[in-house]
Amino acid sequence: MAYLCDPAATREVVARFGLHPQKRYGQNFLIDVSVPRQLIEGAGITEADTVLEIGPGIGTLTQLLAESARQVVAVEIDSHLLPVLAETLSAYQNVTVLHQDILKTDICTLADTYSPGRPLQVAANLPYYITTPILLRLLEGHLPITRITVMIQKEVADRMAAGPGNKDYGALSLAVQYYAEVKTICQVPPSAFIPQPGVDSCVISLRLRKTPPVEVQDEAAFMRLIRAAFGQRRKTLANALNSASFDRGAVEGALAEMDLDPRIRGEALTLEQFAGLSDRL
Ligand code: SAM
Repeated sequence: MAYLCDPAATREVVARFGLHPQKRYGQNFLIDVSVPRQLIEGAGITEADTVLEIGPGIGTLTQLLAESARQVVAVEIDSHLLPVLAETLSAYQNVTVLHQDILKTDICTLADTYSPGRPLQVAANLPYYITTPILLRLLEGHLPITRITVMIQKEVADRMAAGPGNKDYGALSLAVQYYAEVKTICQVPPSAFIPQPGVDSCVISLRLRKTPPVEVQDEAAFMRLIRAAFGQRRKTLANALNSASFDRGAVEGALAEMDLDPRIRGEALTLEQFAGLSDRL
């Protein structure tokens, strides 16, 4: 059976099913076969793995995942794509397509059903309009997932990998680095998709940590603190936290205890310093 991952096969399927790629669902279909191959190799997917794919589209990445993994569970929101997937994936017995919104899917139950006793790998060419909510949900949920390998906007990948002092450093960098080790697999130009997105893309791998790099007493409070710290970037850290209802005196006291300038900005603090601040508050 022919792979979809070339421009002619993709155009043929899109035309035959009368599809109009939906911007509101972030539909940009892959047409360069080297990209899913690098994604699968970078993820280290083997015949022992059950893979959760988010947004299979017309089944391009799904076909290649099905050939590498034990099983693929693909969650797709757009009902127009279900008849397409029924055809393009008909040769694969190890694929299940679920018609759901990934932001509402109960991933623990999904894992128990399709991969009992074994954690999942996540692989996807993500819908860019919800990259951050999807990744934060997967990371913060303490789900049975070992690794997340996904195509995202390059700009978001830069934010994830950024450190203190960098213009891209913020709440997303800290949250991602707390939960996972971030690695870039490859850069991807707009020409690898139909239709072409208006931004450069990147495949990244997030290997979930067994233990976080810093200890915090209350993880939810720590996440609230880093969100509040970067909520208003132009403000000093004390002012930003004060606007988010943290007690000014307590914040200034904690900064003094940590030998930090009371006028310091959030982007100057390391993950360790945010952990120290969170425990003190
Ligand atoms: N995997 C295909 C590929 O690489 O060609 C399509 C990727 S496309 C960038 C994103 C896919 O995610 C689309 O199929 C879109 O319909 C789907 N999608 C968008 N929002 C979703 C959601 N909330 N839950 C599940 N799938 C979603």
